Amino acid sequence: MTRIAVFPGSFDPITIGHVSIINRAVSLFDELVIAIGLNAEKKSFFPVEARLKWIENTFKSNPKIKVVQYEGLTVDLCKKLNSKYILRGLRTSADFEFERSIGQVNKKLFPDIETIFFLSLPEHNSLNSSIVRDVVRHGGDARSFVPKEVDLTVSRI
Ligand code: ADP
Repeated sequence: MTRIAVFPGSFDPITIGHVSIINRAVSLFDELVIAIGLNAEKKSFFPVEARLKWIENTFKSNPKIKVVQYEGLTVDLCKKLNSKYILRGLRTSADFEFERSIGQVNKKLFPDIETIFFLSLPEHNSLNSSIVRDVVRHGGDARSFVPKEVDLTVSRI
């Protein structure tokens, strides 16, 4: 049986915190699909095409890692991809509370699914995409928070 994991998120933009989770998780699976969720009600900062390309370029040397964009329920994407594992990262107790509800709802919607959590590295506890966006918005240098494939100067939405 092929083990396929889906790592859903906004990745607006991908950070070194995400990269760490992906690199640590990939050996557990035959395929890891990074899934950029599109939310009609939540406007993104960077265009989805750029976010997708940055992730593809970051992991281009690993054929097990794929990138897709999707709309709708994560569990529907998992069914479509034949994946029984959702991957998520945990930084704080707030993350845990939030992730527990999503994970439990996903399990109700699709009983075959298991959510697998990776603890962030301590040095990534305070890192999130929204901090990167704030630094960029105010003209700061956020390059140390993202993989080198991310071009923070691309025009934003
Ligand atoms: P979402 O909008 O779904 O929260 P994100 O792109 O912000 O999407 O995050 C996707 C996943 O990556 C989430 O599980 C989140 O907890 C995890 N994550 C985000 N930043 C980090 C980090 N610095 N270290 C570890 N995991 C992280």
